[in-house]
Amino acid sequence: MPNARFKRIMLKVGGESLIGEREYGIDPRAAMTVAEQIKKIHDEGVEIAVVIGGGNIFRGMAGEKNGIDRATADYMGMLATVMNALALQDALEKIGVPTRVQSALEMPSVAERFIRRRAIRHMEKGRVVILAAGTGVPYVTTDTGASLHALELHCDVFMKATKVDGIYDKDPVQNPDAKRFKTLSFADAISMPGVEVMDTAALAMSSDNNMPVMVFELFKDNNLEKAIQGEDIGTYVSNDVKTEFA
Ligand code: UDP
Repeated sequence: MPNARFKRIMLKVGGESLIGEREYGIDPRAAMTVAEQIKKIHDEGVEIAVVIGGGNIFRGMAGEKNGIDRATADYMGMLATVMNALALQDALEKIGVPTRVQSALEMPSVAERFIRRRAIRHMEKGRVVILAAGTGVPYVTTDTGASLHALELHCDVFMKATKVDGIYDKDPVQNPDAKRFKTLSFADAISMPGVEVMDTAALAMSSDNNMPVMVFELFKDNNLEKAIQGEDIGTYVSNDVKTEFA
C-alpha cells in the first residue's frame, strides 16, 4: 500500500445503498456490491470501520410525520440500521472479509455492544467493524454516529459514500447547472445556503475536532480505492482548505 494516504478510515454508507433495484428494504445483490468495494481496500491493508444508515427501511423523521413520537421513531430507525449491518456482514463474510458487528443499542444475540477499545482491536486484527445503531440516542442521524466514531476510533478520515459524486452548490437533481465543489471549508459547508453535506451536528463535530470529510460516489469504478489513494474524487471538506469548484 505504498501510495495509500489513509491507514484507518470511517466509511459511512447510507441505507439507500442497499436498496438496489427495489423501492424499499435490502437487496442482497446491492449489499454484495458494497461489500466488494470494501473488500478491495481491505485487501490493501486499510483498517475499516463502517457506519451503516437505515434510510432504506425507516427514518425517524418520516415516522414522526406519520404521528409516531420522535424518540420512538428514532429508535425504530436505529433498529433498521442493525438489520442493514447484518446484511452487510453477511455479504462481506461471503467474500472472505472477516467482520464484527458492534451495536450502540445492546442486542447481544446478534451483535457485540459498542466498546471503543475492542473496535480498535478488531481493526488492528484486520476485521472490518460494522457499527450499528448510530450513536444509540435519538434526535440525530447515523452521520453524527459516524462523525463521533471516526473521532474516538482515531480514523484518518470520515468518508461519506453517497449516490451523488460529491457536494454541489445546489441540489444537482433539481438544478442541471449545479456545480460540484472540489474542496469545501467546514465554515462554508455549515453556512452556505443550498449546500447539503450532512446534518449540522455531524458537521459541527467534525469541524470542531478537525476530522476531514470526503463525500464521493460509492458505486463508481473503484472510487473507494481512489479515495484511499488520495485521488481527487468527490468533495474534500476540511478546516485546512479553501472552497473551490471542481
Ligand atoms: N438514528 C438515531 N440516532 C442515531 C442514528 C440514527 O436516532 O444515532 C435514527 C434516525 O431516526 C435516523 C434513522 O435512525 O433517521 C436511520 O438513520 P439515517 O437516517 O442516518 O440513515 P441513512 O440516511 O444514512 O440511510
